[in-house]
Amino acid sequence: MIGQSVSHYRVLESLGSGGMGVVYKARDENLGRLVALKFLPPEMAKDHQAMERMRREARSASSLNHPHICTIYDFDEYDGQPFIAMELLEGETLQQMLASGPLPTERLIELGTQIADALDAAHSKGVLHRDIKPANIFVTDRGHAKILDFGLAKPVPTRQALAQTDVSALATDIAEEHLTSPGSAVGTVAYMAPEQARGLELDPRSDLFSFGAVLYEMATGRPAFAGNTVAVIHDAILNRDPVPPTNWNPDLPAELDRVIATALEKDREMRYQTAAELRADLKRVKRSSESAARIVTVAPAPRRPPRRILPIAIAGALGVALLVLGGLWLARRARSTDTKQTRWEQLTRFTDSVTSPAFSPDGRMLNFLRGPNTFTGPGQIYVKLLPEGDPVQVN
Ligand code: ATP
Ligand code: MG
Repeated sequence: MIGQSVSHYRVLESLGSGGMGVVYKARDENLGRLVALKFLPPEMAKDHQAMERMRREARSASSLNHPHICTIYDFDEYDGQPFIAMELLEGETLQQMLASGPLPTERLIELGTQIADALDAAHSKGVLHRDIKPANIFVTDRGHAKILDFGLAKPVPTRQALAQTDVSALATDIAEEHLTSPGSAVGTVAYMAPEQARGLELDPRSDLFSFGAVLYEMATGRPAFAGNTVAVIHDAILNRDPVPPTNWNPDLPAELDRVIATALEKDREMRYQTAAELRADLKRVKRSSESAARIVTVAPAPRRPPRRILPIAIAGALGVALLVLGGLWLARRARSTDTKQTRWEQLTRFTDSVTSPAFSPDGRMLNFLRGPNTFTGPGQIYVKLLPEGDPVQVN
């Protein structure tokens, strides 16, 4: 493909590939600008469903015009190969960024606010993303977030649109629904909302759940819902609350725990209802962490204090310095005792009793006895791989 001309584009180099396509850097020979071209893999080009999904991606995304959404320039077909021409981004995906650990809080809030703003714009145009995940969020060299791949998005039926829907439009909707094969949960498993994992109808709040899982990972460097199999991840998404982010990263503002937990509410009625609400809360976290920083900043003294008040000023400054040092010492003491506190975590969920827990020497496995009354009677021996493995009976 490299060096070839595709319509009026010259393909220059490969940028990467994913589940749905291969992406190349190319030059638009008509306009003389660089673009990114996304092709379906050759074997998928013959797939009618994939073709339709791609066409939909282009259509949904091209209706959006926002600084934090990757701009779509064109959707075309060349020699039987469909492709999308889009804004060429320079930088790396959030997934690549997160490989080196969590982001500093200020960066997290800045990028998070931009993404929330982009989702707000898309949702108010009736477009859902349906596959928000770190691989679909690009961070440019200039530090801007850009959402990629509105590939699995479909228009949200607004009340007005529903009122105007006629039977033929409904038929199209049903046909479109089958593109992602009925009952199969589309999107990426680890970032799916509970309703998506259950194969239910999605709405903007489903994107907000996925975005909550992305925020969790930005804050901690760890996925909110992990596991080796789809079933284990689904179970975590449906039934378990992730450990609060401050537990992994004590430097995070405590309010961020609440924001992320609200985005990750399993019941969508309890979740943020709009991206705008989530954006406002991220801004509040920013404001309160800034004002906390201001409180510890000592105001600079006037350059030339009049002689008479100089000794008072020096004594005052010494007093302030002592107070600040004392405060810092107390804060450090508080934090070091905090981290030593015991944390309870439920490791088993049987309805009968579990006793005699023992960890393997490397701390990665737990074994225990389970039975209706293991305190006095016999029980079965179980082993569980920590943290998320399913308990397995061994006798
Ligand atoms: P999925 O198919 O589930 O979206 P993915 O997001 O991992 O999977 P692609 O969307 O095909 O994969 O993207 C592949 C890679 O191409 C991305 O990881 C990114 O590095 C690069 N890429 C995609 N779009 C652009 C773009 N507009 N500009 C620059 N690089 C891009
Ligand atoms: Mg992608």
